[in-house]
Amino acid sequence: MDPVVLKRADHNVSRKQISSAAIKVMYRLKDEGHTAYLAGGGVRDLLLNRNPKDFDVATDATPEQIRKMFRNCRLVGRRFRLAHILFRGEVIETSTFRAPVPDDGDETVYCDNTLRVGETGMVTRDNIFGTPKEDALRRDFTINALFYNIADFSVIDYAGGLNDLDDKIIRVIGEPDKRFAEDPVRMIRAARFAGTLGFEIEQQAYDSICRNKDLLAHAAPSRMYEEVQKLFFCGHAKDVFQWLEKTDLLHPMFHDFSHWIDEDKTRHDWVIQTLEQMDRWRQAGLRVHPALLFALIFGEYHEFLIQQLIEAGQAPHDAARNAVQGHLKGMCENVRVPKQAIYQVSDIMSNQARFERVKGRQPQRFIQSRAFLDAFLYFKFSAKAHDRNQDLLEFWTDLRKTNPPKPPPRKGKNAPKRRPDGEEPIG
Ligand code: ATP
Ligand code: MG
Repeated sequence: MDPVVLKRADHNVSRKQISSAAIKVMYRLKDEGHTAYLAGGGVRDLLLNRNPKDFDVATDATPEQIRKMFRNCRLVGRRFRLAHILFRGEVIETSTFRAPVPDDGDETVYCDNTLRVGETGMVTRDNIFGTPKEDALRRDFTINALFYNIADFSVIDYAGGLNDLDDKIIRVIGEPDKRFAEDPVRMIRAARFAGTLGFEIEQQAYDSICRNKDLLAHAAPSRMYEEVQKLFFCGHAKDVFQWLEKTDLLHPMFHDFSHWIDEDKTRHDWVIQTLEQMDRWRQAGLRVHPALLFALIFGEYHEFLIQQLIEAGQAPHDAARNAVQGHLKGMCENVRVPKQAIYQVSDIMSNQARFERVKGRQPQRFIQSRAFLDAFLYFKFSAKAHDRNQDLLEFWTDLRKTNPPKPPPRKGKNAPKRRPDGEEPIG
């Protein structure tokens, strides 16, 4: 089937909206005689009049050819071999058109490109070059399979993505059961795009997610961690979370936590409040580091676990460390939270007891410590969410006014980097 091609006059994508770095990459490829398309989420977002997060280029030039063409280029990726072309402050991911996964499910080895399909049908490595059409059809959703051709400024649609953009539908390309088995992370991506764009998940895809959600157990935990961050930092975390609940993807992602929520639906209110806060921060352009995110999202659950350990006889400080580390380390089987973040969350929770100590020199010492800001942000959030500890909150807020945090040293290569949330996100 031929693609639908929208000429320049028939769509709203203009070169002015595309980063100059991506434009340079595409023109260079074109001038060297190659096909060069803007691909994926960038085209989708431009057609929707949204600001793309990044611009990816797809081409018929091989990674080696691309590397020779650009001095500022590095080849990366084991799973997908692709080129990163570096510009000041921007990386243009440039990949060679890829072919689809073969049907047989056997391990297939190609001369210099390898593809393996494991027992569950999950692709563990692929890197086979293909045609533009094949490249479009191996993408996850129809709305992510659109190309913008720098040669004539047309938009090319092999998968029906233009109609689905109009109808606000997340539709899997091909057979949903098969595509989710190949890469279960696509199920979470469906929830993220539905939540972020305000689209519906097409019925067959939705049913397939509900049937196949447990396949997420086969996804690489480090990739799951990347995806989880995208889910919660996308600016529409609350809507995305509601899709995760609706499709029941929450269970395979956060097993213990979601069972705990199920026991009492009011427990889910805390999470929703956290996510609303995340979205406000995001919309205000503030970034929250992952440890604070996890401390907040799992806060009420962690408090529950801590209380259980205290009742079993542990000292509060030990209980906080054991509860948080026990939960997050267990979660690493599915979602690999980095060790450092786990310890930071555990510090945030074990430091909460220090807010009750307001006598003597302890408050001064605490407020000057590195652990203070994150612990305080949690304390403030939980005081507001639960309408508790208002006196203490006032005390610490006043104390902060008279003890502003010390600015980091301005010079020297060993100077600490300013934390992105150093401005204090909670209002
Ligand atoms: P975002 O706005 O989050 O960047 P995106 O659609 O650009 O959304 P990316 O993760 O940047 O998502 O991926 C770029 C493109 O690569 C996607 O638009 C899609 O075409 C393709 N893609 C990404 N992940 C997958 C996947 N798991 N399976 C198939 N295609 C994928
Ligand atoms: Mg992208």
